[in-house]
Amino acid sequence: MNAVNYDIAIIGGGPVGMALALALRDNNLSVLLLEARGLPDKVDDIRPLALSHGSHLILNRLGAWQRLPQFTPIKTIHISNKGYFGRSVLTTKDAGVPVLGYVVNYHDLFRALYDVTVESDIDYQTGAVVQHFSTDEQLGHVSYTHHGTEKKISAKLLVLSDGGRLGSQIEDITYHINEYNQWAIAANVQAETQQTGIAYERFTSEGPIALLPSGNHFALVWTAPAEAAKEILALNEEQFLTRLHSHFGDRLGQFVHAGKRSGFPLALKYAKPTTSQRIALIGNAAQTLHPVAGQGFNLGLRDTYELAQIIQDTLTENKEIGTPAMLQRYRENRRMDSNGGRLFTDSLIKLFSNDNPLLQHLCGTGLTLLDNLPPIKRFVARRMIFGARG
Ligand SMILES: Cc1cc2nc3c(=O)[nH]c(=O)nc-3n(C[C@H](O)[C@H](O)[C@H](O)COP(=O)(O)OP(=O)(O)OC[C@H]3O[C@@H](n4cnc5c(N)ncnc54)[C@H](O)[C@@H]3O)c2cc1C
Repeated sequence: MNAVNYDIAIIGGGPVGMALALALRDNNLSVLLLEARGLPDKVDDIRPLALSHGSHLILNRLGAWQRLPQFTPIKTIHISNKGYFGRSVLTTKDAGVPVLGYVVNYHDLFRALYDVTVESDIDYQTGAVVQHFSTDEQLGHVSYTHHGTEKKISAKLLVLSDGGRLGSQIEDITYHINEYNQWAIAANVQAETQQTGIAYERFTSEGPIALLPSGNHFALVWTAPAEAAKEILALNEEQFLTRLHSHFGDRLGQFVHAGKRSGFPLALKYAKPTTSQRIALIGNAAQTLHPVAGQGFNLGLRDTYELAQIIQDTLTENKEIGTPAMLQRYRENRRMDSNGGRLFTDSLIKLFSNDNPLLQHLCGTGLTLLDNLPPIKRFVARRMIFGARG
C-alpha cells in the first residue's frame, strides 16, 4: 500500500485540532485532519467552557465564533473561600477589556468548528482511528483505520491533538501525571436569582465550585472527591439541589432546577518535552489541566495560534516545516504560557483544597490583598485572558 504524502497531518479533530486545521487553511499547505469520532450528539458532553476574550478573538478570526448558537458574556468574576473571610471581585474595568470572557457549551463549540471545517477544503476524515505512527528524519508515518479500511499516510509534520492518548508511543516524551482524586460534576442549573453576567468561583476544602452565567441560567462545575462525586451524581434532582445549596451557600438563593449531570475524573497530565522528531503536541495532548479557572481550552487554542504562526513564518522564510529548528521554536515559545497555566491551576488546587486552617486564612488574606491592589488585579486578570503575553 503506497502512503499518501501531506505537509501536515493533525491527529485528533477535537476543538483544538480543528482550530489548527482552520488556522492553516490559507497557507497552500496540504493538511490532513484525522478524527476518530463523528460529530458527537448534543447529549454527549454538557461541560461548559469559559472562553477568554483572547480565545474569542482567535475563534472569530477562524470563522467559528459567528456559528455559535449561544454565548454568554462574563462581566464580573466573584472569587470566595467557603468558611473563611476574604473575597475578590474582578471586573472588565480591572482588566481593561470589554468583557472578561464568554461561556459556551463544549458541544456547540465542537459543532461550530466542525461546520466551518467541513465547508473548507481541508482533508477532514471522521471515523478515522489512528493506531500507530512513527517518524524518521524526513517524515512522520501514520497508520489508521477509516470506516474499517486500513490506510497509511506520511507528512513532514505530525501534530498530536488527540487529548493525550497516543503520546505514550513516543519514546523521548514523558507524561507527568498527578491524579487529583477529584471529579468535576457538570450540569445546567437554575437558581431563584437570575444570572447577571457574574461568574462565581468558590473554593472549598473539598474542591472549587463554579457557577457560570449561561443563557438565563447557570452552568455548574462542581469539584468533589471522587467517592463524594459518585454519590452526588446518583442523587435525585431534589436531593441534588438541596446539597448544592448547602455546599455553595445562599448567594443565589435556592436552586430550583438541574438538567442532566455528567462526571469527569480530574488529573494534571503534561508532556515533557512537547515536541519530538517531526512531531508537535498541542491542546490536551500537551497539557491537561484541572478545570479550575477555565484555562485548558484557552491554553490549547493559544498552542494552535502560535504553531500556525511559526509554520507561516517558516514558509515565508522559504524553509522546510517540521525541522528540529522549527520545533524548537514552537517548544520555547509555548514554555512560559504552558508552565504558567499548569502552575497556576495546580497551585490553586493545592492551596485551597485542604483542611489546614492556617493555610485557608492565608488564602483569604491573599484574596483580600488581590481585591485591594489594582495593578496586581490587572496583572492576574490579563494573564487569565491572554496567557503569558497578557
Ligand atoms: C468539566 C470540565 C470543564 C472545563 N472547563 C473549561 C473551561 O471553562 N475553559 C477552558 O478553557 N477549558 C475547560 N476545560 C478543558 C477543555 O475541555 C479541554 O482543554 C479541551 O476540550 C481540550 O481540547 P482538545 O481538542 O485538546 O482535546 P479533546 O477535546 O480531548 O479532543 C481530542 C480529540 O481527539 C480524538 N482522538 C483521540 N484519539 C484518537 C485517535 N487514536 N485517532 C483519531 N482521533 C483521536 C478524540 O475523538 C477527540 O475528538 C474543561 C474540562 C472539563 C473536564
